[in-house]
Amino acid sequence: MAAAMTDMRWRLVVHGGAGSMRPERLDPEQERCARAGLEAALEAGAAILEKREDALDAVQAAVRVLEEDSCFNAGRGSVLTATGCIELDAAIMDGRTRAAGAVAGLRTTRAPIDLARLVLDEGQHVFVSGKGADELARNHGLEQVENGWFEVPERRRQLEELLAAGGFDDEIKYGTVGAVAVDVDGHVAAATSTGGLTAKRWGRVGDSPLIGAGTYASDSSAAVSATGSGEYFIRAVAAHQLADRVRIGGQSLQDALDSTLADIAALGGKGGLIAVAPDGDAAWGFTTPAMYRGMADSSGRTVHLYSEEDER
Ligand code: ASP
Repeated sequence: MAAAMTDMRWRLVVHGGAGSMRPERLDPEQERCARAGLEAALEAGAAILEKREDALDAVQAAVRVLEEDSCFNAGRGSVLTATGCIELDAAIMDGRTRAAGAVAGLRTTRAPIDLARLVLDEGQHVFVSGKGADELARNHGLEQVENGWFEVPERRRQLEELLAAGGFDDEIKYGTVGAVAVDVDGHVAAATSTGGLTAKRWGRVGDSPLIGAGTYASDSSAAVSATGSGEYFIRAVAAHQLADRVRIGGQSLQDALDSTLADIAALGGKGGLIAVAPDGDAAWGFTTPAMYRGMADSSGRTVHLYSEEDER
């Protein structure tokens, strides 16, 4: 699919996680915080796209804003592992070249998406994990913080509640962040960042940093970012599945997204996806009661939390 290079429009879609939140269960402060965070992320990314700059820079900037916002399960405010620490995963991909950078199991790097971008820019490796990844960040002067810096009291409470119930966070609540964008040159990019799932085993890596599962971008199909029960998104190779439904299967972006979610549901998983195409088309969808999400283009910005708000 070749995007017309004239009269192109830019577009940015962000998510702040899919989950079981409902208007009656979310306190007004959480709701206000989520909406404000999504607005701020859209603003940061749109400021770049409006200047006719790169989709890759726009998705990084949007995700970076959400990582710093403790309302979301990425960077500060991330969920805790079963052993009570925080491990962060992130990935970014450039649809123009399919260059990608991914990091997993970070414990001290404040800006996971910036480290993923550094891996992409270095170009030597695609995926770096654990202590080696934090060391790479340190060596390049990316800010390091104590692991406890990422923790907020609500996430500790959620972990304790879940452990008391003897469980693992299958009923994902909210958080993982992602952005997809198409710039005026018709290039697409995707970025995703997360603390993963509450009470995950330490060392567990979800779909978010896996290229093709939680994050994917190609100018020949789409840019995609996922949120949800990561194990199922990995098994479905969700983001790449969506892209290939467009490229090989000839489905529309929205049909490809809905079909991919149906495939994940058939495995037993749930969550949401956002996607943009090089021609400026955009889509989102989710199989949970809600997904924090927003969209910006030259005509304005919209932010939605629950399914009933879904007038795209
Ligand atoms: N997909 C993320 C993971 O499994 C979690 C989420 O999206 O909330 O790590």
